[in-house]
Amino acid sequence: MLDWSEPATPALTPAARKPQMTKAPTLPADSTGLGEIERGGARVSVDDKRMINCRADVNQLLPLKYRWAWEKYLAGCNNHWMPTEVSTQADIALWKSRDGLTEDERRAIKRNLGFFAASESLVANNIVLAIYRHLTNPECRQYLLRQAFEEAVHTHTFQYIVESLGLDEGELFNMYREVPSITDKAAWALKHTQSLDDADFKTGTPATDQAFLRDLVAFYVVFEGMWFYTGFAQILSLGRRNKMVGIAEQYQYILRDESIHLNFGIDVINQIKVENPYLWNKAFQDEVRGMLKDAAELEAAYGRDTMPRGFLGLNAALCESYMHFIANRRCAQLGLAPVFKETENPFPWMSEAMDLKKEKNFFETRVIEYQNGGALSWE
Ligand code: MN
Ligand code: FE
Repeated sequence: MLDWSEPATPALTPAARKPQMTKAPTLPADSTGLGEIERGGARVSVDDKRMINCRADVNQLLPLKYRWAWEKYLAGCNNHWMPTEVSTQADIALWKSRDGLTEDERRAIKRNLGFFAASESLVANNIVLAIYRHLTNPECRQYLLRQAFEEAVHTHTFQYIVESLGLDEGELFNMYREVPSITDKAAWALKHTQSLDDADFKTGTPATDQAFLRDLVAFYVVFEGMWFYTGFAQILSLGRRNKMVGIAEQYQYILRDESIHLNFGIDVINQIKVENPYLWNKAFQDEVRGMLKDAAELEAAYGRDTMPRGFLGLNAALCESYMHFIANRRCAQLGLAPVFKETENPFPWMSEAMDLKKEKNFFETRVIEYQNGGALSWE
């Protein structure tokens, strides 16, 4: 677990490690990069680059300050895939067969697809319309542009599944407004981005900087880093039993992307903490821990609703334990005390195959063990 009272890991460059501001900064001149050009302005110095409230020109990628962000951009590009490359023939045959799937399995699959179909768009909209504007660093923005495209690929995946299986478009895509346990999760996350949606919102005060951090926690840590993980476990568990294998393969590709999205979010939050230590006070740490706890409870309610009886290898209680395990892991990645008592991972095959190995982030190690090609390595 990260302990912020200890010296930072040697992997951090001196410029990145040093807390750079001890009080709230004054408002930046041009955080969008779309303001008037400062003719003859001085060249960018690496020390002037900041995650938020930057005074350095955001239109200049080089010199790089946050190499971890650039490396994630490269890793994302190396993982390129398209949903249409995966055959869904076996899934179509199984879905159309009379007795290949139980009613409970069909319900769980449909709700899982419905949750993801709208969630990918919510995440994409939050990146483009809220986070991008306030993250004032060009190498992080370079990653956000790549991530935004990956979210489009993920939304495309659900379009492709609906088309392949002949599902009702409205039933799946409108599910986040029709099924209360899904609505509750989306509404909870949206609550944390609403202040950023105000046209007058600007970071630059402790209150608004914390509002931005709340958004990052809600979308990167909770939405992509917790809720998506139980969703992956559900479908991959079916895939392990040879059911819906095409969709399961697509979910593995999505999971590979999401593990980078999550770790980018964790690194962003941790770097903002280093640069603005006054934001990460005890009250705010307690608030973030409370957010992760609430999020796990919302997921447990969704699990009971989605799997009222459970089926082979999977039920609501196991998903709840998995969520507790994941929530504690996210706390550790953020340098927070766990929110649940120590929990065994009920799906060790998830973490062995992809979870922990790929979750190395900058603050834990410089060695990023990502793919160098389009193929999945765990096949
Ligand atoms: Mn996604
Ligand atoms: Fe994502």
